[in-house]
Amino acid sequence: MSASHPPSSAPASSAELFAAACGHARRAAVLASVESLLGWDEQTMLPRAGGPHRADQATAMAAIVHGLRTDPAQAERLVALADSSLATAGTPLERTTIRLLKHDADKQARLPVRLVEELARAAVEAQQAWVEARASSDWAALRPHLVRMFALKREQASCQRPDLDPYDALLDDYEPGARWRRLADRFGPLRAAIVDLVRACGNASRRPDDSILTERPYPVEAQRRFVREVASRIGFDFDRGRLDTTEHPFCTTLGPDDCRITTRWNERSLPTALFGVLHEAGHGLYEQGLPREWYGLPPGEAASLGIHESQSRLWENLVGRSQPFWEWCFPLARQAFPAALADVDAERFHGALLAVRPSFIRVEADELTYNLHVMLRFDLERALVHGDLAVDDLPAAWNERFERDFGMRPPDDARGVLQDIHWSAGLIGYFPTYTLGNVFAAQLMEAAHRAVPDLDVQVASGRFTDLLAWLRREVHAAGRTLESEPLVERATGSGVSGDWLVKSLRDRYGPAYGL
Ligand code: ZN
Repeated sequence: MSASHPPSSAPASSAELFAAACGHARRAAVLASVESLLGWDEQTMLPRAGGPHRADQATAMAAIVHGLRTDPAQAERLVALADSSLATAGTPLERTTIRLLKHDADKQARLPVRLVEELARAAVEAQQAWVEARASSDWAALRPHLVRMFALKREQASCQRPDLDPYDALLDDYEPGARWRRLADRFGPLRAAIVDLVRACGNASRRPDDSILTERPYPVEAQRRFVREVASRIGFDFDRGRLDTTEHPFCTTLGPDDCRITTRWNERSLPTALFGVLHEAGHGLYEQGLPREWYGLPPGEAASLGIHESQSRLWENLVGRSQPFWEWCFPLARQAFPAALADVDAERFHGALLAVRPSFIRVEADELTYNLHVMLRFDLERALVHGDLAVDDLPAAWNERFERDFGMRPPDDARGVLQDIHWSAGLIGYFPTYTLGNVFAAQLMEAAHRAVPDLDVQVASGRFTDLLAWLRREVHAAGRTLESEPLVERATGSGVSGDWLVKSLRDRYGPAYGL
């Protein structure tokens, strides 16, 4: 893999250096995509007995990719490039590419190998312990693993970004440029508004009846045809992607023209697959819209997890749960599921999609309460990283906060602090990107409505091309050249604010509950 490096003794022009650095980064991306292919296959196709050999394959690939990403020759090239005329006088895309490649390499290099290995081992052990601990609701069994994980993550933060607050350093891995104080300022009013709205829905005399969605027959074969038709209609390109079945739905990109989405099926519940596929197809549309000529380089990568999630949530909730969408889609649904929907009309169907049902479990939450689950985790993990909260006090802090926000107390830790794998997996600073995604989505959708004044009319007739073209132009085409907030500000013409999300929720849930 290193055969094409220019000989380091010969002086290379900055254009040659740039080509060599990009070539190297692309090779790493191509090999990382082989790793992703192994992962996709493991989740969808792999026979059970193939597991151990797959683990060998994945470990071998991970070592190769890690070797490429930490190659000293590439590090030298990036140092030379950062000092070259290209870094100051190149095109904006060249300058950004140099800056971000160097930023990523430096960050990687600041992590001692010992810490990387310890983090990997701790994550494997904590996740194994978590499976058992959750199954038996046994907090004590997970506690020492979380103590160790949070200590290691604090160490990672101080090595990786000694210039930043430790929580910001971790957040930066998922949402470059985000800062916890700004998030907390934004989430505070959002949380208060959502708590009020959830309470108002709970006390409302009118309640949408969602039994038509979850207690009637939705044959899996008919669901398959239906969701594929919907995904393709919103613009997911099945010549450049696939839909397959898994236990835990995801979207993964295996190459510039190969985006895989997955879902699970439940023949008594239409929303499981339908909104799952709208969500993953939203991620897929973003991946399919990234500049393919920059594949493997920052301008061809996603801006952040929050921006990624904004695209999935926009299609899932702001399009998929909107009244105009069901004007177009309900006749198709009734055709696909005559036994379930013969006695239902579009209005009743759309109302059912807006049922609010507070749950102890985040992954079962409705659109409205979902953000409360996320903001709770954000505040607690931030306090843990800052040392304002001890791991020992976590279950009590969780339950108190949950009761304050939801008006009910988790009956056990399995339905409380033990429910998510994230902290055991070392994903700390990851949760807030879910709510950021919702915040960005609502603000982007409002701007799309201004840019495409008859958007509702278009959606009501099943036309999504203008909306997708707007997202392509304003969001997807930028790749990672802008951080998430500047990207959203540029696309929408105003500073990031949670107000659009509150407005969008009130506008849709208010009428459904007669508020
Ligand atoms: Zn998602």
